[in-house]
Amino acid sequence: MKIKDSRIEAISDERATGDGIWLYLKPGWIWDEVHFVHEDTVQACRQALRVVQPCHCDECETLKAKAQ
Ligand SMILES: [Zn+2]
Repeated sequence: MKIKDSRIEAISDERATGDGIWLYLKPGWIWDEVHFVHEDTVQACRQALRVVQPCHCDECETLKAKAQ
């Protein structure tokens, strides 16, 4: 799969079992109020990444602080 983005922590391709593609975002990023992207196709994932926004929720700030 060819999805490269500095905001992605991990990718889980579950298309073989019909569960689509999961992109787990790094702390500090959010997509439509969740901290991952879940879409059926690579193309849909790329479109979703266009609307991933910086996130400053408590969870992200805590994780970012721990990572430093
Ligand atoms: Zn957050």
